[in-house]
Amino acid sequence: MQLRTFASSSRGNCTLISSSNTAILVDAGISCRKMRQRLNTACLTPDDLSGILITHEHTDHISGLPVFLKHHPVPVYATPGTSLVLARKVPIIRDLLQPLPAGSDFAIGDLSIQSFSTSHDAADSVGYRISNHQKIAVIATDLGRVTSIVLDAVFGADLALIEANHDEDWLRTGPYPYALQTRILSDRGHLSNEASAEFAVSLAAAGTQTLLLAHLSPENNSPERAQTVVQTALKRAHLTPELAVLPSDQCSELFTV
Ligand SMILES: [Zn+2]
Ligand SMILES: [Zn+2]
Repeated sequence: MQLRTFASSSRGNCTLISSSNTAILVDAGISCRKMRQRLNTACLTPDDLSGILITHEHTDHISGLPVFLKHHPVPVYATPGTSLVLARKVPIIRDLLQPLPAGSDFAIGDLSIQSFSTSHDAADSVGYRISNHQKIAVIATDLGRVTSIVLDAVFGADLALIEANHDEDWLRTGPYPYALQTRILSDRGHLSNEASAEFAVSLAAAGTQTLLLAHLSPENNSPERAQTVVQTALKRAHLTPELAVLPSDQCSELFTV
């Protein structure tokens, strides 16, 4: 199974996951033009996609959907709560939606998928555990906090794409208004580097070999800062998984599990 991100930050998120005969996207928070270009970089066209999984309805996860679906109607998988909001925001999506409750197991081609609820200020947000029946990858961003549901869902993953959104001190002293700071720091906001480091240690201790730091805030974090905080915690715990920070607005390298 292979994973490549097309974008990963508070400004836009889109991830390609493929197996030998199936390719899907998780989220579509970049323009249709960028989605096409970056699929092309991965030697794929929109017609090669078997579906798009949506984590939740925030703009940084769905902004590309209206134009992309107009030209390339592919099935869109989301929870019932997210589907309701999407049907209102993106009318063209109605015939393409496959609403599935959080916690559902389903298959797209040879990929088996399970969604899991996340603690976030959206209608019905989820992360995804995706397997090709040999290896497991998890997508876990926009977490607010790491709940027992999230920990259960990510357990045993070979590769984990996890959120490292902000440095807490940078956020508190940065340009964001107080109300937005409070939202981000809340249990339904985003994971700090420190919280991400703790999450990374639990994952690596359970055997995850590849950890990808995702959804960084361009204003309140930096790739170097996120990498240092998480790497230090892993080192302290004597754990040595592969660790990478995903680029915000370009194709990542290709990760294979
Ligand atoms: Zn987001
Ligand atoms: Zn969000």
